Amino acid sequence: MARGREPLVQCEKCKRMVPRSKAVEVVKGINFDLGDQKDVTMDLTRRVVYYCISCAKHLHIFEKLKKRNERRRQRKENRG
Ligand SMILES: [Zn+2]
Repeated sequence: MARGREPLVQCEKCKRMVPRSKAVEVVKGINFDLGDQKDVTMDLTRRVVYYCISCAKHLHIFEKLKKRNERRRQRKENRG
């Protein structure tokens, strides 16, 4: 059962190596509440970190992602 194709990422909290498909990706470092200023370059401060499932649960990251997705969806609906 060697699945070598899956890239591994390291959990930011427990430092465990987990397959990227099972890790939770979180963008850290800046607030995205910039309104309509979509063209602001913020790649310098942007940092993507990964958490394994158990850490993500522990840190309530799923709830945060859900909220963020909802907000994004609402914004889309407002626009169109
Ligand atoms: Zn972890």
